[in-house]
Amino acid sequence: MEPRATLNYYKETLKTLEKQGYHFVGTHKHSAVKTCLWLRRSIRGEGNCYKGKFYGISAHRCIQMTPSIFCNQSCVHCWRPLEAFNIVGEVEPVIWDAPDEIVEDCIKEQNRLISGFKGSDKTNMDAFAEATVPKNAAISLIGEPTLYPHLKGLIQEFHSRDMTTFVVTNGTNPGVLREIRPYQLYISLNAPDEATYKKASHAQYWPRINESLEEMRKLKGRTRRVIRITCIEGLNMINPAGYAELLERANPDFIEVKAYMHIGYSRKRLSREAMPTHLRVKDFAREIAEALTPLGYTYTITDESEISRVVLISSL
Ligand code: SF4
Repeated sequence: MEPRATLNYYKETLKTLEKQGYHFVGTHKHSAVKTCLWLRRSIRGEGNCYKGKFYGISAHRCIQMTPSIFCNQSCVHCWRPLEAFNIVGEVEPVIWDAPDEIVEDCIKEQNRLISGFKGSDKTNMDAFAEATVPKNAAISLIGEPTLYPHLKGLIQEFHSRDMTTFVVTNGTNPGVLREIRPYQLYISLNAPDEATYKKASHAQYWPRINESLEEMRKLKGRTRRVIRITCIEGLNMINPAGYAELLERANPDFIEVKAYMHIGYSRKRLSREAMPTHLRVKDFAREIAEALTPLGYTYTITDESEISRVVLISSL
């Protein structure tokens, strides 16, 4: 069990996250940026992440950030320390920074973080020069971005700097989805039915998630729409027909079926065996695509990344 939220635990956890490579930006420490393994590989010309393979994003030009380290769910597979940040303002009132401050600081911090690559023999200097001008913000690092009350302005601020945006939400705030227009919108689905959702997320937002799926359908042609299903062995790799019914509601452009990764704080809650193999993920992705056919939808597996254990299903 992780400790209950207290101001001390909250502050200690902020320090732990800093040691783990999360860099808080803005004045009030609710936003963070972190460079990923793939940025380091990409800047050396040693490969790109699956988002590059699937959607053309260059990892060395991508800022991974969040405007809210807080979340309203407690998913078993989350790599965050759940209890420290779960309820916004539970341990301390939150003062939200303005979008322009967060964006400015994210870009500055990313540049500071990559500056060390300049002196390395392994760095591809063309990639390094490109990396100093990021082109995409993955608003998905940790926490739930729709809890930040100025998300629409944050997205607009990134776009005004000639950057694209990926927003990954847990779908619990459909009202926010009616307002925002990111370049690519993800909803994370971690269950095919309400009972499994409660086991996976320890939350009560099932009706709101269903509403968000309907909102996603309305965004067809206005933003690229993706549903991500995180597969946890022994918990939610069941009932492909249930997933298909939910997917029918959203009618996304893409479905990412991805393995849970046994990392971070999730290791306190799940065993390594909960991480399915790539083959298992691919078989399950096939079952989901097949379950959509009787509903009148044609979805096909179009790509995969074995190293990231993720399979891409596309709408045809
Ligand atoms: S919705 Fe995302 S950030 Fe929130 S607990 Fe679940 S996995 Fe973690």
